[in-house]
Amino acid sequence: MSEPVFDVIVVGGGLVGASLALALSRQGRAVALVEPRPPETDGLEAGWDTRIYAVSPQNRDFLAGLGAWPDARRIGRVASMDVRGDRDGRLSFSAAEIGQVELAAIAENRWMLAALWRAIRASGITVVEGRAQRFDTDPRAARLTMDGGAVLSASLLAGADGANSWLRREAGIAASVRPYGQSGVVANFACALPHGDCARQWFLGDGVLAWLPLPGNYFSMVWSTSDSERLLALDAATLAETVARAGGGALGALTAITPAAAFPLRLIRPDSVIGQRLALLGDAAHTVHPLAGQGVNLGFQDAARLAELIGRQGDPGEWALLRRYERSRKEAVLTMQMTCDGLFRLFHQTAPGLAHLRNTGLSLVNHLGPLKRQLARFAVGF
Ligand SMILES: Cc1cc2nc3c(=O)[nH]c(=O)nc-3n(C[C@H](O)[C@H](O)[C@H](O)COP(=O)(O)OP(=O)(O)OC[C@H]3O[C@@H](n4cnc5c(N)ncnc54)[C@H](O)[C@@H]3O)c2cc1C
Repeated sequence: MSEPVFDVIVVGGGLVGASLALALSRQGRAVALVEPRPPETDGLEAGWDTRIYAVSPQNRDFLAGLGAWPDARRIGRVASMDVRGDRDGRLSFSAAEIGQVELAAIAENRWMLAALWRAIRASGITVVEGRAQRFDTDPRAARLTMDGGAVLSASLLAGADGANSWLRREAGIAASVRPYGQSGVVANFACALPHGDCARQWFLGDGVLAWLPLPGNYFSMVWSTSDSERLLALDAATLAETVARAGGGALGALTAITPAAAFPLRLIRPDSVIGQRLALLGDAAHTVHPLAGQGVNLGFQDAARLAELIGRQGDPGEWALLRRYERSRKEAVLTMQMTCDGLFRLFHQTAPGLAHLRNTGLSLVNHLGPLKRQLARFAVGF
């Protein structure tokens, strides 16, 4: 194989791939970004995106450092959290308790994508609009053949092509996929009462309901439920009533401001996240239950870590570097996957006495200062 043309080819221009491409380009690396559907970067003002993320302070700083943090007018902030069990269990904590200004920023998918892609368009990154068809590697380089026949080569292929990663499959990396039997139903609402920058979450026994504060009197809902079809079939007024009731009327009457959409929830754990001249990141490398709102946060940390390691090294696809990347992300990813999975199981078990135990546990943590602060730090990714 001849000399690779690029240092890194990033496959997938979603939030994670786009952030990696930009971080590498800022280091002066030659980067190609392959994406079949680049996002809109203009005309975003009208309406709200149903896909909203709770972005940790660490990742907000990462994106701001890349010059790719969205307009402040569209960003909500989480100053506190109020978590309710399926009986009388309750846990609440605030950013102030852990010496922070906010626990998380709430940002819309399309505004974050637009901020990243505007910066990408203004950088030296080669954007390749299309789908990859084939790839092969040797000890020195990786090659990607596009659907139109063009061939790209690089020292490293970074696969950020989502949960159903084509690259992961093509590389022959097996992944265990466990469906949760639930979907995440998302929609945005206007609320009659002020949300006070508080993120609210209810473990309902048969699902988890979260309300994330948007700017003004709006919030974004993620309802992880096995009953998604029923919710999607409701008209706007009935959906708003149903959601208000499920949240105990905490924010008064609600008005739906977007239609609801649903995403299937799965736990995906590949056997490995690296291969010869190949690294996976973002949902291609892991998915988690959205009850902690940490999926994309893990992905941004993958991108930040991989970029950091590459920044210290001449050859971005060297095996020792890839091993370091895999090792350094393993614990954070596993901890988050197991914590979310454990909470999901704990609140979906119907064994006698367990409901009492989990609700008591939640309230107990609420009274244990150090443990509560530890949990609050974990919730924001410190
Ligand atoms: C209901 C729900 C709510 C969630 N809420 C949160 C939350 O509050 N906070 C949070 O942190 N996370 C949340 N998540 C998780 C979050 O959505 C994902 O972790 C995140 O979108 C993953 O980003 P990504 O860039 O890795 O993948 P994706 O967003 O899936 O992007 C993959 C990209 O690759 C491209 N692509 C695909 N195939 C190819 C190919 N062959 N060649 C080239 N490009 C290709 C696609 O077009 C796409 O642009 C939630 C998930 C769900 C389901």
